[in-house]
Amino acid sequence: MKLLMLKHLSVILLATCILQGCGESQVQTSSASADTEQHFEWKLVTSWPKNFPGLGRAPETFAKYVERMSNGRLKIKVYGAGEIVPGFEVFDAVSQGTAEMGHAAAYYWKGKVPAAQMFTAIPFGMNATEMNGWFHYGGGMELWREVYKPFGVIPFAGGNTGVQLAGWFKKPINSIEDLQGLKMRIPGLGGEVLKKVGGVPVALTGGELFTALQTGAIDATEWVGPYNDLAFGLYKAADYYYYTGWHEPGAALEFTVNEKAFNSLPDDLKAIIEVATQAVNQDMLDEYTARNNEAMQTLLTKYNVDMRPFPPDVVEKLKAASLAVMQEHAATDPLFAKVYKSYSEFQKNVTVYHKISEFEYYKNR
Ligand code: CA
Repeated sequence: MKLLMLKHLSVILLATCILQGCGESQVQTSSASADTEQHFEWKLVTSWPKNFPGLGRAPETFAKYVERMSNGRLKIKVYGAGEIVPGFEVFDAVSQGTAEMGHAAAYYWKGKVPAAQMFTAIPFGMNATEMNGWFHYGGGMELWREVYKPFGVIPFAGGNTGVQLAGWFKKPINSIEDLQGLKMRIPGLGGEVLKKVGGVPVALTGGELFTALQTGAIDATEWVGPYNDLAFGLYKAADYYYYTGWHEPGAALEFTVNEKAFNSLPDDLKAIIEVATQAVNQDMLDEYTARNNEAMQTLLTKYNVDMRPFPPDVVEKLKAASLAVMQEHAATDPLFAKVYKSYSEFQKNVTVYHKISEFEYYKNR
């Protein structure tokens, strides 16, 4: 009986093959074959030096994933900061279609739309795990899409550095007064908080940091953490390396896609972009988790870097200033207020659980 059924099945299969053709090139249906014959060549501009560890490697990995998964139907060429557009013009380039994609950090666009900053980091806000939870299961991504919609840009989470460090300082910071008049490269809301306590925030892309710090154009800079700060040689330009990263507790990066270009893709290529961004979003955090500690050991043992925590009263004052900055924005900007409400509610709720899970575990292991 079974044999008879198999025989029947093979007859049906054979008949299907004769009618439709079973050769590899003929398997596709006519509508699918029109899509799969379409090839796309895209540009992806970034705010990073080409192939920079972590940040710059992520878009390269993304482009490789997309090319392999699409069998070469979507080829994406990655450009470092300044190759096509300067690092701070990535968003405009994607919005205008100069490049189909970008990889950068949302807080660089604060001049365009202040609410964007919260998709990178809020001082004393959420860490990497919590940010990803908010983006993908807490309504954060829907808000991010809403904020970028008027610019014809679609955002995707594009990696996370984990908790950053407070940065490199030429002089020790013993009290909040030591931050007064201090010229420091610190972007986004962290920069606004520094200003609130009397400092002078300066906006510079990564590639400009070392020279600015070494020549004394700035007194201090934050960048990312040991892995990236070692790569730029910042230890050669300042003596004191402070922690913790109060200003960027889980800085998220972003992939941006020009909306028209995205909509021109067939569904499978759209899905490939979505999945590849998710893979890279996690991969970057893994890379920082593995490399930051190694780099810190190098900074401590090979270069004798003086690493210190900020004094507790400095942290308390920065925290109070952070809250004031957030409330001021929310009071005057309805879009900012909407995103901040979603963010702060998620943070409040996730903290309740993380206090008895993550925090308790760190204390005890
Ligand atoms: Ca940073």
